[in-house]
Amino acid sequence: TAPNVILQVQDLAVSYGHIEAVKGISLTLNEGEITALVGANGAGKSTSLLAISGLVKATRGKVIFNGEDLTQQSPHRIVGSGVVQVAEGRATLTTLTIEENLSLGAYTRKDKAAVAGDLEWVYSLFPVLKQRAKGLAGNLSGGEQQMLAIGRALMARPKVLLLDEPSMGLAPLIIQEIFRIVKEINKTGMTVLLVEQNVRQALRIAQRGYVLETGKIVLEDTGANLLHNPKVVEAYLGG
Ligand code: ATP
Repeated sequence: TAPNVILQVQDLAVSYGHIEAVKGISLTLNEGEITALVGANGAGKSTSLLAISGLVKATRGKVIFNGEDLTQQSPHRIVGSGVVQVAEGRATLTTLTIEENLSLGAYTRKDKAAVAGDLEWVYSLFPVLKQRAKGLAGNLSGGEQQMLAIGRALMARPKVLLLDEPSMGLAPLIIQEIFRIVKEINKTGMTVLLVEQNVRQALRIAQRGYVLETGKIVLEDTGANLLHNPKVVEAYLGG
């Protein structure tokens, strides 16, 4: 049976002043899959995610989630409907504890009993966060702060998780760990849109992928096919 489409981006464009950073991209996210959006620095990956989250305004195009048009809705409404972006730059609240940061992720939820269960789930994904639950987020390493940022987004119980370069600036072993956890999160059935400059790793765990160049989608295929596509190999995987 054909997979169920959970999120559809149609001809989405975003401009900063006179510069069109995203030039009409279309993406289809199948429910329960990891979709990778890869490309070089400045290709427009972050801008695309911000437009899906409602944090920047699209100048054209649509974002359809489960048949509902999210395009001109507020970021708050978009989170409420289940499309949740992991905060960029690991923007954890450094003067709050880890537990407080995680609780903030769930602040709009009404199902408080389920929140407690989700906290245990996040702690099982990231045992280091449980060990240090009462410690300040500001004392975490870069990798741990990234884990906290992901954990906080999970506390909103997303239906679609938007991840903006989770591996950025991290040491190789931590990067492996982050990709392993993204895969594990996906195994629970959560749909993931994974933006990455780490093209090889992203395509390895993604069922499908898109390659973005200067604001346009230039390739789209399964993750496995893209990994072996000569254009991808030459441009992104070091020949
Ligand atoms: P990176 O990996 O560097 O974040 P990216 O693929 O995510 O790259 P974007 O950050 O979306 O790319 O940037 C796309 C283009 O838009 C770039 O040319 C960038 O310089 C420009 N841009 C991004 N943010 C702004 C902004 N706030 N104001 C003006 N131009 C911007």
